[in-house]
Amino acid sequence: MSVWDDVRERHLAAAQATHERERQQAISAYVDGRLGRDAMLDRLRQADAAMERIRRDALRQDWVPRRPGRRMPKADQIVAYWVDRGELFQIDPDEPGCFACGLPVDEWGRLERGHLVDRWAGGLDGPQNLVMLCSPCNRVMPGFLPGQEAEAVAWVQNGGSFEVWLNAAMAAARDGMSAQAS
Ligand SMILES: [Zn+2]
Repeated sequence: MSVWDDVRERHLAAAQATHERERQQAISAYVDGRLGRDAMLDRLRQADAAMERIRRDALRQDWVPRRPGRRMPKADQIVAYWVDRGELFQIDPDEPGCFACGLPVDEWGRLERGHLVDRWAGGLDGPQNLVMLCSPCNRVMPGFLPGQEAEAVAWVQNGGSFEVWLNAAMAAARDGMSAQAS
């Protein structure tokens, strides 16, 4: 047994779920008339080939998880994504602050990009899976698995934890005091 067996299972399960979603999307697009028959078949073939590659790769003895390439969207894109989706998170694009605890910052770029579904478990680097968090919130955020998206969103909506909020507020107050002192 390799130490990665558990991670491998999760990796494969996540890839399988993505694969099924891709197939479903191609088929619905064909049914809705948005995609021609050949284009749909092409997409199904591509999805199958990609899944086959992932499976072959993951079943090798020496497989270790590879972190997906870092092609994460910029902070502003993540904020714009969630602002477009209404009131899931209490955010104002002109008032940068941690999505979870609300800690205000000068600009969105000062926050970290936190994954809703853990990237080790196959979580995407797209804005739909990213939220802007202060570093204390990002550190204590649990690693949510595929299928636990709602729990991850609820965790952020509930402000991470009060303790996190308190620590962040105290750190901000300390920074403010030292900025005034200098
Ligand atoms: Zn926070």
